[in-house]
Amino acid sequence: MERTLVIFKPDCVMRGIVGLILTRFEQAGFKILAMKMVKPDYQHLYKHYEEIGTLKSRKGEEIFESQLASMQDGPVIAMILEGIEAVETVRKMVGETEPKKAMPGTIRGDFAHVNYGAAAKVGRGVANIVHASADKTEAVSEINHWFNNEEIFEYKTVHEQFTQPS
Ligand code: ADP
Repeated sequence: MERTLVIFKPDCVMRGIVGLILTRFEQAGFKILAMKMVKPDYQHLYKHYEEIGTLKSRKGEEIFESQLASMQDGPVIAMILEGIEAVETVRKMVGETEPKKAMPGTIRGDFAHVNYGAAAKVGRGVANIVHASADKTEAVSEINHWFNNEEIFEYKTVHEQFTQPS
């Protein structure tokens, strides 16, 4: 089984669509191992987006700082989801980074439509509902950064009877 980190961003929480988005992951059979609402500070987000996610190195200072500010607009809900090839499949469900390009049927395509240009005009990170780990290495680093072992729970879901030996 594989684990991935998902964060419901401030725009998701403030729009009141937490339940709708969570339902998508639950109905796909992903198991919630951990979940919490937090208001991360700049340092926490710096590590998440640059030391782990290399956002500043990839996209530049301006986009990086806008994104960190946008992530502090309000609380976020962080969670660990577990499933078969969870990293890749959750990313597929989340869709492209820019909502304009995200396909219908994906979370970003169904719940947002904005583009980078509109975000740049107001100096914001593009509001795209959720974060999901980009690859397996990033998932491990992000999970360790956001959760300690006592916050992670083990239990059986009904989905597991279809994918695990009895
Ligand atoms: P993803 O979240 O899809 O893995 P990135 O790691 O490249 O994408 O970017 C992190 C976050 O920064 C994005 O989800 C988005 O909110 C914001 N972002 C990325 N690129 C831009 C951009 N060109 N303009 C505005 N915001 C951006």
